[in-house]
Amino acid sequence: ENRLVIDLRVAPVGDEYILVLADDRTEITRAQTVRTDFVANVSHELKTPVGAIGLMAEAIETSVDDPESVLYFSSKLKKESQRLAALVQDVIELSRLQSADVVLTSTLVDISQMVADAVDRNRLTAEGKNIDLLVGGRCLRPVHGDPELLSTALRNLIENAIRYSPENTKVGIGVSVKEGTVRISVKDEGPGIPEDEQDRIFERFYRVDPARSRQTGGTGLGLSIVKHIVGQHGGEVTLWSKQGEGSTFTIALPLVDEASEQDLLGESTET
Ligand code: ADP
Repeated sequence: ENRLVIDLRVAPVGDEYILVLADDRTEITRAQTVRTDFVANVSHELKTPVGAIGLMAEAIETSVDDPESVLYFSSKLKKESQRLAALVQDVIELSRLQSADVVLTSTLVDISQMVADAVDRNRLTAEGKNIDLLVGGRCLRPVHGDPELLSTALRNLIENAIRYSPENTKVGIGVSVKEGTVRISVKDEGPGIPEDEQDRIFERFYRVDPARSRQTGGTGLGLSIVKHIVGQHGGEVTLWSKQGEGSTFTIALPLVDEASEQDLLGESTET
């Protein structure tokens, strides 16, 4: 990962030879490695649910006379196919976000509204674990960005908070504004993330506990997607976490000031 890739040439200067840096290919090589690793990881991740689906189908075939087994294997098959669907969707989303010619729809996004919608959509899942979803704070100024993508980013953080929290706990979503920046934080009372893994969890397919993540339906791509979306909006996603005390993920996004808001509103009415 931290390899330096350079082309060196030896060039004669008078009676001596000097070493010349002909090309620095570090960045290109890194990008190529990242791409190859991604393809390899995707292939690996796809194999598990695809293999399981095949096995479940066979098991159903051999237990046609036993309705209970048929029900058991078909519910497992359904779960695996949902996992596969989630994985395919995340891979497509991430590839789209990473492509150089990605075009973002840009409008004025009402953050308070977006938070309220995201919370509504997760209410049922939270209730299933008896988790209290609490919302606090408001943002009166808009963000200029892609509403679908920003919702996806927030949804991923809320889903993770619920997924990794034990039952009967609280998940708090807080909105605050400071110096032209809105901060949306998602705080949970879950297991927390070990300090030495806090940077790594934003990498594709990195999981602190792979078995647990897969079992709970995680694809391992959620936080990479969040990081990409927030980055493309000129923002930043940060994490505070302590093992045993929970985690707080915060998305910071630049707000549109009043003058620009008028310009942007003008633009959208003209087109
Ligand atoms: P996944 O689909 O596995 O959740 P993510 O990219 O969303 O993938 O997260 C990467 C890993 O970070 C997870 O597998 C989990 O180990 C850890 N993680 C993410 N959010 C939380 C959280 N709120 N509490 C504890 N661990 C978390």
